[in-house]
Amino acid sequence: MSVPATHPAPTPAPPLQRAATTMKRLGVDALLVGPGADLRYLTGYHAVPLERLTLLIARADGRHTLVVPTLERPRAEAAAPPGGVDLVDVGETDDPYEVVAARLADLGARPALAVGDRLWATFLLRLQDRLPEARWQPASSVTRELRMRKDTRELDALRRAGRAIDRVHAVVGDLLHPGRTEAEVGREIADRIMAEGHDGVNFVIVASGPNGASCHHETGDRELQPGDAVVVDIGGTLDGYCSDCTRNYCLGGPPDGYRAAHAALEAAQQAAVEAVRPGLTAGDVDAAARDRLAEAGYAEHFVHRTGHGIGLEEHEEPYIVAGNGLVLEAGMTFSIEPGIYVPGRWGMRIEDIVAVTDDGCERLNRMGRGLVEIPR
Ligand code: ZN
Ligand code: ZN
Ligand code: ZN
Repeated sequence: MSVPATHPAPTPAPPLQRAATTMKRLGVDALLVGPGADLRYLTGYHAVPLERLTLLIARADGRHTLVVPTLERPRAEAAAPPGGVDLVDVGETDDPYEVVAARLADLGARPALAVGDRLWATFLLRLQDRLPEARWQPASSVTRELRMRKDTRELDALRRAGRAIDRVHAVVGDLLHPGRTEAEVGREIADRIMAEGHDGVNFVIVASGPNGASCHHETGDRELQPGDAVVVDIGGTLDGYCSDCTRNYCLGGPPDGYRAAHAALEAAQQAAVEAVRPGLTAGDVDAAARDRLAEAGYAEHFVHRTGHGIGLEEHEEPYIVAGNGLVLEAGMTFSIEPGIYVPGRWGMRIEDIVAVTDDGCERLNRMGRGLVEIPR
């Protein structure tokens, strides 16, 4: 039976409701989540990490509490957490752990609690002190599968972030001149990232000449030289969702062997993108890029996984890495970023974000992937 095209798409349940459903299935009584991506995903609240406790208590039975320091209450209110969340503020001399314990008291002495993977030890140790018999597991056991599959609103934000970073790459070639330092270029790129609509700059990697062989090179005071190959890997955050895109540039003619390697890299990146579809595994996608580079003779120069999930965080699940049997599903978003690195000489990486669709994938970056040779 075919569904008519006009059939309205079902509105997905809000994240907190989905989390409660998952908690019930997993036998988790409550999620305890501090500032970070899980909190933003569940409530929309972009909390500042402070030494004071901010904690969402999301319960499987739907009775949710957001505990915030009193001075953060205006920001928490402005974020308009979804209905059904009780906002409780705690003054400077009051004990927030008392509030948390009270909100969990009716669950008995041994509640099953899923605690934020990145909640600071300073908070977790006090919570464990207060709830000595509770059973603990990481919050990702609940939030991982929810956050991995993006809904239409999230996909739209990632698409807009992708377009914005594409517009930055469109002008990077004009910023690269011999004699300028990586840091000077990096500062201008950071300004462009903001000017193109991002709310924040996550990172700017300008890796020139031999620095390109270090994947996460820290942009520094090396001056660009004629003949340099330059790896530019940049990303920001737009409406909470991240962009991440890498292209390769050359100042004049590239070094020996560079053009051929770049052609092989483009083919490998393309092969991995074409491999993406529901039902295949993350490991299959990694193999598509890796096999191609191995055939071309670059196996030992591709030293990292093919990609990482992206969303509210720059690096999140799913990881596109050899042996990962995770089966891809529509709505998953991740980078495809094979690279070739020759220590002491040069490096290159081509990176796009893709979203898994019902029958393949959509590229969220549309900039040409060819080597950009800047005429002298
Ligand atoms: Zn990275
Ligand atoms: Zn990346
Ligand atoms: Zn990147």
